[in-house]
Amino acid sequence: MEDLQRALKDRNLTVSNVPGKGRSLFTTRDFYPGEVIISEEAYVCVPNNNNSSHKRCDGCFTTTNLSKCSRCHVVWYCGTACQKSEWKLHRLECEVLSRLDYDKRKSVTPSIRLMLKLYLRRKLQDEKIIPSTARDNYKLVEALVAHMSDITEEQLVLYAQMANLVHLILQWPEITIKEIAENFSKFACNAHTICDSELRPLGTGLYPVVSIINHSCLPNSVLVFEGRTASVRALQHVPKGTEVMISYIETAGSTVTRQKALKEQYLFACVCPLCSKSGQYDDVRENAILEGYRCKNEKCDGFLLRTTDGKAFQCQDCGLVRDKEEIKKIATEIKLLSEEASKPSSRGNYQEAITIYTMIEKLQVKLYHTFSINLMQTREMILKSLMKLEHWREALAYCKLTIPIYQRVYPAVHPMLGLQYYTCGKLEWYLGDTEEAVISLTKAVDILRITHGTNTPFVKELLVMLEEARAEASFKLSSKEE
Ligand SMILES: [Zn+2]
Ligand SMILES: [Zn+2]
Ligand SMILES: [Zn+2]
Ligand SMILES: [Zn+2]
Repeated sequence: MEDLQRALKDRNLTVSNVPGKGRSLFTTRDFYPGEVIISEEAYVCVPNNNNSSHKRCDGCFTTTNLSKCSRCHVVWYCGTACQKSEWKLHRLECEVLSRLDYDKRKSVTPSIRLMLKLYLRRKLQDEKIIPSTARDNYKLVEALVAHMSDITEEQLVLYAQMANLVHLILQWPEITIKEIAENFSKFACNAHTICDSELRPLGTGLYPVVSIINHSCLPNSVLVFEGRTASVRALQHVPKGTEVMISYIETAGSTVTRQKALKEQYLFACVCPLCSKSGQYDDVRENAILEGYRCKNEKCDGFLLRTTDGKAFQCQDCGLVRDKEEIKKIATEIKLLSEEASKPSSRGNYQEAITIYTMIEKLQVKLYHTFSINLMQTREMILKSLMKLEHWREALAYCKLTIPIYQRVYPAVHPMLGLQYYTCGKLEWYLGDTEEAVISLTKAVDILRITHGTNTPFVKELLVMLEEARAEASFKLSSKEE
């Protein structure tokens, strides 16, 4: 811990114990929007390869030009560079995996591999084959919370089964199944999903220093990945002596939804400034807008609350009442359609997916408030399918429909909002709506240069696109004037 404090001091950070929260990361100087507060390489990480088609390279997570490790047939590489960079660790992993019969090898999931890699990396550091540093050593993993006393019986059984498999594969008598199970519990509340710049998940990694950072539903910082490197950037001015906070979950949702997600996955009750407003008028209103029903009067955008007898919902603006049974009927129709909806897109039948999601959308428009998260998610699915089919004009229309909800549910500087402006701008650019493209791409750049930095290939490309759009817009303007 002292070593870590010293290493963090050079980065203008310090770890303190906060009662009720445990270890927390604080700044010892001011940080400004877009500045990297801390970046860290994974202690261990794996791509989220499963039995299905999409395999990724173990080194860089790419999906192209892959070949299987010829010995274990479990791990994939894009070329010799990645194979070499992973070799010290994979040499040991390959050995233990190759001992398994083929059928057993199929049960080696990404989580199992992450655990194998954890123990193998510890061994390599113990034997000084891989160097340890103050910010890269197994003691940091030991310091992570496991919440063993809070997990359910069901989870415990699952962790024990997985631990059993790891124990069988490693065949190291000195480690116990109990210890491995505890580490699975640690993974559940500490491991991070590694995403690309557009926030699509690629894999899972353990970043023990980043794991010290606590959650807030209104965070001052954001965690993004550049390849496998985790970077925490300031979203706003973070003064000296402030606790660094990121969000562990998708924050678009009511207080109840957010708290449920945090309790289930991270086993704590959030007391952030947003959650501590729970039950107050503003919070009740916002929750009813995001996840509640719409007023019967189509022109009214009031929010509905349950009547005191519990039999209906009443608009708080105009007083109109919606019957519970009528609501239930539409909700059931939506539920039935939703069960069907995911099937066609998993088969690659995007046209059929659009048909079903459009039916859901129509019902949701009748049922939910205009700013409903459910409606936003359905439109997001339609947008994705339209993009797959390269129906750019309709995709743009859907993208524009989602923007007002994004603006409502996310803070002004949030990667999701920035990426939605980016999609909008890109579509406008393809479609020749140059002036609109300039506006959308500018909004995207204003956000993403803070959340992603300006050095990533993604943002660099975006900046080039914006420059080209600007040049074309002024060219169009000048030719109009002539
Ligand atoms: Zn690679
Ligand atoms: Zn291998
Ligand atoms: Zn909260
Ligand atoms: Zn009303």
